Amino acid sequence: MIIDCHGHYTTAPADLTTFRDAQIAALKDPAQTPSRASLRIGDDQIRDSLEKAQLKLQRERGSDVTIFSPRASTMAHHIGTEATSLEWSQINNDLIARVVGLYPKNFVGVCMLPQSPGVPPAHSVRELERCINELGFIGANLNPDPSGGHWTSPPLTDRHWYPLYEKLVELDVPAMVHVSSSCNANFHATGAHYINADTTAFMQFIQGDLFKDFPTLRLIIPHGGGAVPYHWGRYRGLAQDMKRPPLGEHVMKNVYFDTCVYHQPGIDLLLKVIPVQNILFGSEMVGAVRGIDPTTGQYYDDTKRYIDSSALSAADKTRIFEGNAYRVYPRLQARLAAAG
Ligand SMILES: [Zn+2]
Repeated sequence: MIIDCHGHYTTAPADLTTFRDAQIAALKDPAQTPSRASLRIGDDQIRDSLEKAQLKLQRERGSDVTIFSPRASTMAHHIGTEATSLEWSQINNDLIARVVGLYPKNFVGVCMLPQSPGVPPAHSVRELERCINELGFIGANLNPDPSGGHWTSPPLTDRHWYPLYEKLVELDVPAMVHVSSSCNANFHATGAHYINADTTAFMQFIQGDLFKDFPTLRLIIPHGGGAVPYHWGRYRGLAQDMKRPPLGEHVMKNVYFDTCVYHQPGIDLLLKVIPVQNILFGSEMVGAVRGIDPTTGQYYDDTKRYIDSSALSAADKTRIFEGNAYRVYPRLQARLAAAG
């Protein structure tokens, strides 16, 4: 079983974008407020959006199931108010639930949260509970910067975030620390903002004592952990200088990196530096980088190929492809069993 822990519904039908555009326009002109009932997406549209994209690529590349969430770049928590984010989150999460309902063997749901700048994360708890308990999802995406590139929230280790962590622990589901689009022109969304956020989250975990307070909380840092594996010596050294415990006990009992690194040398470095038990297979397809690498003739985001070609033992490859995911997402096995 090959489990891809990182996929977004980047190919959702255009009606979803039309609704969002109207929702955003209505922030200035309430007369344009779209009714939720006006958004009608048929099952055939959903099937069509997946058959020629994610499902086709699953078949071609040999993955079995994708842990699937709303498109990250369009979460855009910085737009509008808390009510805007709540409506947008519910619509997107409901759409993911329909995807999973149509293809229960191919997709398992993860939700976006109705975060909004300046709004306590505690306000996201109700939607998290709805998605886990009612929609059968197995995790959440947590945006560490709902301001979209201006970083106006306290660090992830601040008590500001604790009500959300308490609920994640109670529900026994992990969160992927995943920013959305950038409205700061300095930071390209997928090329800079994403990687900055991954790196930033890790350093916050070193500085804080989050996992002392939440020893069973599990957080996934995507995109291969940002700059962290490449600079592993720096982070170990900083922890040492700051009199923090060694990273193995201070952070790495709770933090996992995915394999969304789009070339072989990068994956080889990740696998060499980060313990196998902390790595989950992910591709983030279809999304961040869509082209073919002319030096290999293969898609950059065909990340399974890099793991297959690595020097890891067969047993370690299986842990990355499958075994670790069951530990990080305890609800996954039951969902797959229910799908048959
Ligand atoms: Zn992503």
